[in-house]
Amino acid sequence: MWFIRDGCGIACAIVTWFLVLYAEFVVLFVMLIPSRDYVYSVINGLVFNLLAFLALASHCRAMLTDPGAVPKGNATKEFIESLQLKPGQVVYKCPKCCSIKPDRAHHCSVCKRCIRKMDHHCPWVNNCVGENNQKYFVLFTMYIALISLHALIMVGFHFLHCFEEDWTKCSSFSPPTTVILLILLCFEGLLFLIFTSVMFGTQVHSICTDETGIESLQRKKQPRRERRERRGSWKSVKETFGGDFSLNWFNPFSGPRHPKPLSDRDWVRQVSSVSDTENTETTTEEPSEEPKDEDFAEVVDE
Ligand SMILES: [Zn+2]
Ligand SMILES: [Zn+2]
Repeated sequence: MWFIRDGCGIACAIVTWFLVLYAEFVVLFVMLIPSRDYVYSVINGLVFNLLAFLALASHCRAMLTDPGAVPKGNATKEFIESLQLKPGQVVYKCPKCCSIKPDRAHHCSVCKRCIRKMDHHCPWVNNCVGENNQKYFVLFTMYIALISLHALIMVGFHFLHCFEEDWTKCSSFSPPTTVILLILLCFEGLLFLIFTSVMFGTQVHSICTDETGIESLQRKKQPRRERRERRGSWKSVKETFGGDFSLNWFNPFSGPRHPKPLSDRDWVRQVSSVSDTENTETTTEEPSEEPKDEDFAEVVDE
């Protein structure tokens, strides 16, 4: 099972769960259960609990799924020789985890591994967001944004209702406690709504343009290095979410299409001229942001 042993990440993941459970507590025990409108309580309770369950399930899946780690220490002499590099072909070796990096892989200093199509390392899910778990991460941000919005709407209704009626009748807690609990929930909901919807938008944009967060940083720093041909946006969305559009796209228990194992061709990268090779050897490929890695090219001349 994949699990990153990083103290800060584990603490952030626990805080995330705690905040969702706090919202769950206030929604149920302060707002819905004391309410005398049975239909309102049951419908909102079901919707909120379903969304919260999907959010936490997506969180677990994002945290416990291998984001696409490259086998550690596979950059052995024998392996490189077995690839039978032709002139103009190079392999990139990661000096930190001693693995050969396929195209679009980056080293993460927290996971201590090279991750395929790494987008960023997210402490809130205590894992890298990469090729194999991006779907779960997107679902996590979406469901958190939805429960935040739902909680805010319910708090709004509850305040309206309580101002009209007697405060002592609208909650089983004392009025000051009720107000404090609701204000804290409002604050949490607003903060998370903004944070997760921005993150959701960024992720959807990066999937549609087929460009990870790291690649977008690199392109801004070194525009002339843009050489990779991007795939059509719909194809990229389908690959991330697992096949043609269906309800499964929103299901954190259904994985993206099974990642195909790397073939020999995936390890080798083609450079078009010798000057390109010199470029890859002399320029630092990564922006100064994390993850830093000093790639070097191995070129076999015949
Ligand atoms: Zn590495
Ligand atoms: Zn990582």
